[in-house]
Amino acid sequence: MSTETNATTEAGPGAQRVPADHFGGPVGAAVLTFLVPAITFYLWAAAALHDGQLWLPGSVADVLAMFPVPTLRALGIFAAWMTLQIGLGVIVPGSIVEGGPLPNGQRLTYRLNGLACFAISIALLVGGLATGLVRASAILDELGPLLTISTLAAVAQASWLYVWGRRRGALERSSGNVPYDFFMGTVLNPRFGLFDLKFFFESHIGMGTWGALAVLLPAAELEQTGSLSLAMVVVSGCQLLYIVDFFVFESNLLSMLDILYENYGFMLVHAFLAWMPFNFTLQQQYLRVHPTSLPVWAAVLLVILNLAGYVIFRDSNLQKQRFRRDPKRPVWGKPPRTLKTKRGTELLLSGWWGLARHTNYLGDLTMALSWCLACGFGSVLPFFYFLYFAPLLLDRERRDHKLCKEKYGDDWDAYCQRVPYRIVPWIY
Ligand code: NDP
Repeated sequence: MSTETNATTEAGPGAQRVPADHFGGPVGAAVLTFLVPAITFYLWAAAALHDGQLWLPGSVADVLAMFPVPTLRALGIFAAWMTLQIGLGVIVPGSIVEGGPLPNGQRLTYRLNGLACFAISIALLVGGLATGLVRASAILDELGPLLTISTLAAVAQASWLYVWGRRRGALERSSGNVPYDFFMGTVLNPRFGLFDLKFFFESHIGMGTWGALAVLLPAAELEQTGSLSLAMVVVSGCQLLYIVDFFVFESNLLSMLDILYENYGFMLVHAFLAWMPFNFTLQQQYLRVHPTSLPVWAAVLLVILNLAGYVIFRDSNLQKQRFRRDPKRPVWGKPPRTLKTKRGTELLLSGWWGLARHTNYLGDLTMALSWCLACGFGSVLPFFYFLYFAPLLLDRERRDHKLCKEKYGDDWDAYCQRVPYRIVPWIY
């Protein structure tokens, strides 16, 4: 184990006890440990067993059917995918960059090779599909067993991480309460040298597996019907744009909350292994069992809506990053208007950041909505992504607002007066 591993996991200036007060405390965390996987199984069952509709269990058999028994074939697919991802993650070269400051002030180094690994994985997958070596429908027939295996893998990984954190006495921002710490995690950045588990699983596994399913689901439609529906093309095409963008700007992840502040426990482990890939492709899973004919004019409008969301999302995030690097750099062709703060840094008042305080969330939500709308109004299931994501970002904005108020004090109030809207200019 490297010195860097020791530095991030041993009790040090960053290690501290925290109250078990998130998500309803220990009881809330214990409930969520069962509820979050149960929701994922329920949604898979809605798509796979109940014609893409929300359903109420009518019998014990209905409930049992929600939890598919793992198969050897699914185990083989899971093992092959994980081996490929870990192998590529370790072997493929990438730029070595420094992450953001952790709560103890330390900065870790990361190897960024996600884009190359994703490109190789998708090329291998498409090559396999094109040559007939891989059959998309055969893999997707195992989606249920794959979900069970991914969930069991999440439980195993989170248990191992919990023990790792406890054994090393790290207890980085943990409470000492077992169910709470299992859910929230006991270790901030578990890593083997440069191989950072949380970063790898969020990027290569969470985003990468989502991308692979976004390719496999239309491929299965093509295999089974001989053609691709417009709705499937719009949803998967737009999602792949989002995923490729994530890998192109992979370094952004290093300054995000998840990496800098959230311990790596069951909540995140399950999110990366199961929640993201399975629930974020519910639109295509729905379309697979419930073909929807999308008129060309509607497809064009939805692609325009998605691109509009993408421009807002990407441009607003870039504006802030560039401003942080060079506060004099013009914004939309003009010198930026800024607010100097007592903390030393400035706040941007121009561009997207002058229209609302989180237009980047507006962009993200606009894209999410366009993916859901492509599936029509036959069921609420394909709208799950938007219905889950909107409250998540509304809450995230409130949490960031609180954090900024603590960081900037009166200066944040002055910024809020100058930019009164939270997410949607002139509306909210
Ligand atoms: P932001 O990128 O919005 O960053 C918030 C921080 O930016 C603040 O804490 C503050 O930090 C700084 N800031 C705020 N206002 C200004 C200003 N006017 N000028 C300069 N700096 C300012 O936060 P997130 O990490 O939440 O979001 C990043 C992106 O990731 C978003 O586009 C979001 O939609 C996306 N996202 C996607 C998720 C998914 O599951 N797909 C989940 C969560 C986020 P400081 O001043 O200290 O620099």
